[in-house]
Amino acid sequence: MDLRSRVHDLMPAVRDELAELVAIPSVADPRQYPPEECERAAQWVLGRFADLGFADAHLEKTADGSNAVVGSRPCSDPQAPTVLLYAHYDVQPPLDEEAWHTAPFELTEVDGRWYGRGACDCKGNILMHLTALRALGDALQLNLKLVVEGSEEQGTGGLEAFVPTHADLLRADVILVCDTGNAAVGRPAVTVSLRGMVNVVVRVEALESELHSGMFGGAAPDALAALVTMLSSLRDSRGNTTIRGLDNTQTWSGEPYPPEQFRADAGVVEGASLLGDGSVSDMLWARPAVTILGIDCAPVVGSASAITPHAAARLNLRIPPGVDPEAAEAALVNHLTAAAPWGVRVHVETEAAGAPFRATTDGPAYTAIAAAMREAYGVPMTTLGQGGSIPLCNVFADTYPEAELILMGVEEPMGLIHAPNESVDPRELEAMALTEALFLQHYASARG
Ligand SMILES: [Zn+2]
Repeated sequence: MDLRSRVHDLMPAVRDELAELVAIPSVADPRQYPPEECERAAQWVLGRFADLGFADAHLEKTADGSNAVVGSRPCSDPQAPTVLLYAHYDVQPPLDEEAWHTAPFELTEVDGRWYGRGACDCKGNILMHLTALRALGDALQLNLKLVVEGSEEQGTGGLEAFVPTHADLLRADVILVCDTGNAAVGRPAVTVSLRGMVNVVVRVEALESELHSGMFGGAAPDALAALVTMLSSLRDSRGNTTIRGLDNTQTWSGEPYPPEQFRADAGVVEGASLLGDGSVSDMLWARPAVTILGIDCAPVVGSASAITPHAAARLNLRIPPGVDPEAAEAALVNHLTAAAPWGVRVHVETEAAGAPFRATTDGPAYTAIAAAMREAYGVPMTTLGQGGSIPLCNVFADTYPEAELILMGVEEPMGLIHAPNESVDPRELEAMALTEALFLQHYASARG
């Protein structure tokens, strides 16, 4: 039987196993879910890969307290190249449970897609690895390594700290970073560019305490009004991010993102326009973008007729390849400080910063993945940028400068990762598992 039919025949089992894994609420935040859930997910992953010949599979505790599943499957030829398979088993919290149309931790089929938290990001990719390896059997002339981390969604950097101090354990010629996805269902792509990010919390202080807005309003400085003024200066009227000192004119040269498709993928309400002077792909992958993540001030219900004495906002700034995160952080801090009106006190604290990433795409593994995608999908591979950050990619690139990093997976835009109603398209899961199997086969024979 050929690989395509073997992968196809595995799909009913894939669904059952994905349902088992999605049923484990492995949110790596002990304030929200018991740590035992992550432990269960780690053991589930460990068991499946141990059954596939990763005989030494075990858990490695990382600096943030999470456990990474690590293992290897050497082949009979020690000279054969090594491929490291990456994924993560932790998931985002479900967020607004009311907004889910199905139970978040119960894999549910609706209109041909499988819904559930983590079904796509990244448990679908774990099943992709398992299915590819099962379809291939054990004749593969490649040394395989595995790392499935347990705190990716927390941004606490467990595996990022682990990799440089355990460089030999995970050393490989190719790293399949399977935590991204295609341009659309059926349109295969590898991600070659990732934006970096800077997260800050900006606090504004204007008064010692709340004041009656009737007695004091008009002359007393209002911290919330000051914050609103500062935040509104971060974008112009067309939606371009306008942080002084940050270039917002770069353009994207890879795959374009058609505006109509973006509108549909993003669920933009009718009448609302897309932001910025550039194309969608320029705005997503080549230019900085600031987002207000949260604001601390009085909620509508329970608010009094009072002037707000202090307010805070949490901001997320995405930066394209070529921009240094420290320079971006300094530009953001300076901009906010300079934009503060009325001499209010401003304090900006940086929570996290990560560098952007650009893959090198001229090695043998890229040739093999392009061939695999064409064969699996019947259409040529394209290259994408991604607006999100995967700081681990920079750690891999720094630790293994010779390795080829391939970013791919089942997380196409319809998957709504990190949002309510996350889902995976089983056709994508099947085609990407076949892609991975074909890639491993092509790469092994090209290097054998
Ligand atoms: Zn992910």
